[in-house]
Amino acid sequence: MRIAIRMDDITPDMDWDKFNKFKTILDRYGVKPLIGVVPDNQDPKLSLNEAHEDFWDYIKELQNDGWTIAMHGLSHLYTTKEGGIFPLNHKSEFAGYSYDKQCEMISKGKELLASHGIYTDIFMAPSHSYDVNTIEALKKNGFTKITDGFGYEPYERYGMTFYPISANRGSVLKSSRDGAVTFVVHTNTMKDKEFDYYEQVCQNQSMISYRDLFRETPVRRGIFGALRERLMASAKYTLVRLRSK
Ligand SMILES: [Zn+2]
Repeated sequence: MRIAIRMDDITPDMDWDKFNKFKTILDRYGVKPLIGVVPDNQDPKLSLNEAHEDFWDYIKELQNDGWTIAMHGLSHLYTTKEGGIFPLNHKSEFAGYSYDKQCEMISKGKELLASHGIYTDIFMAPSHSYDVNTIEALKKNGFTKITDGFGYEPYERYGMTFYPISANRGSVLKSSRDGAVTFVVHTNTMKDKEFDYYEQVCQNQSMISYRDLFRETPVRRGIFGALRERLMASAKYTLVRLRSK
């Protein structure tokens, strides 16, 4: 199994020391990740440092260096308690709102990124929460790809291409099947031992950069595959809650 990396919560005021520490590991192994940039961050939990003035130029530099940019929501504020169609969490910036409202939010995010010279057709939903209206609003705004869902290869559903995330890292690392799956990384909250873990992953596994993952032909996913994914996400939500009790 090939492993791709996505980094969430990229903002001008993120924890830069941890970001840089993780980037050093990726650079060492030549891995180019997908990064989720929040167009207009309003979430205080993501604000951990003084904002870097040259943030947007730096993001463009990363893009020139082969990194891939996704739009990570608009403001990263959870204003609904919906899990949407991939209910790993029951909170969302988008799921639960009307198509018109979501269209407006997505278009605003896209405009903000464009005002900084950043263009992308990849969406990363805060908390993995999106619904059918989110997908329609994304399509209306020219988005074609979503980083989420469960599976072992890119798949097509609702007229979008999905790049699945790992449901269970342990079993992915042991798997001998062919395919490609994304490991989700939040550097802001990473502990030392997690940096060591990723060093090991990059060293011992077959890694794939996002720009190469986009060259793969997606498989078609039908209604049963979609239902299965939804059940798995619900089960994972319940398990995580039980474990934290
Ligand atoms: Zn996030």
